[in-house]
Amino acid sequence: MRQILIYFFLSLPILVMMTWLYLDKRSIKRRELKQIQLRSQPLAPEYLHILQTEFPLYLRLPDELQCKLAGHIQVFLDEKDIIGRSGLEINDKIRVLIAAQACLLILNRPGNYYPGFRSILVYPNTYVASSTRTEGMLHITGTSTRAGESWHRGAVILAWDQVLQGARDGRDGHNVVMHEFAHKLDEENAAMDGLPLLPTAEQYQQWSQVLNAEFSVQQQNLADGVEDVIDSYGATSPAEFFAVVTETFFEKPYQLEHRHPQLYEQFKQCYLLDPKQWSKAKD
Ligand SMILES: [Zn+2]
Repeated sequence: MRQILIYFFLSLPILVMMTWLYLDKRSIKRRELKQIQLRSQPLAPEYLHILQTEFPLYLRLPDELQCKLAGHIQVFLDEKDIIGRSGLEINDKIRVLIAAQACLLILNRPGNYYPGFRSILVYPNTYVASSTRTEGMLHITGTSTRAGESWHRGAVILAWDQVLQGARDGRDGHNVVMHEFAHKLDEENAAMDGLPLLPTAEQYQQWSQVLNAEFSVQQQNLADGVEDVIDSYGATSPAEFFAVVTETFFEKPYQLEHRHPQLYEQFKQCYLLDPKQWSKAKD
């Protein structure tokens, strides 16, 4: 009897682990099936109307990508919680425009709808946040006005007026949703360092080579006061460079390709998309 009890207690952790793996596998399968079902549903007419009237970039997409985006939007809205802050009431327009701009980045990228977080907090307007930074022996606490932010492994925060402006103007190279969700892609391989997940070792090598060189050029441009199609904020860190070039890639593809052909090529391979073609097709 004593021996049986010893065997039982020794095998208990293995049994628990196997049950957990079995349940986890089942829940992954259930999630995948639900995603397939949601992607195959047609988008509600009121959602489609919002895209057609408020998001001109959607109208420039080829039909196949419009269809794909509609599917992704429905999964995204099912899996993320969009929560109003400072009295903002969340409505369909807010939900659809955040989902559409975020899902544009993952239209063709393999992955699973920005894993690792659920909450997107939305303020009515640009908001004031406090932060502390260290300079030598000094801890400096200050406040700054923000259009959005992405917490590492945590929530995305957005200002609705900026989300709407970003959706309505698809040519100015500024898009807060794309910016913050580029940070989310960046952190999928742990560090937020301007290096997203890429499929091959060769691609990592090319990415590092091109991005490091282009980042140095941006820093020099900033120091010399030289204007560029890429916003100077990109020169603050490799992570910000990735997020800012993402905005430029989707909203100013011609200018980016003209000024920085190698950079454009790397982003084309990273997102498996070529926004230059969209403009050509529908303009
Ligand atoms: Zn940023």
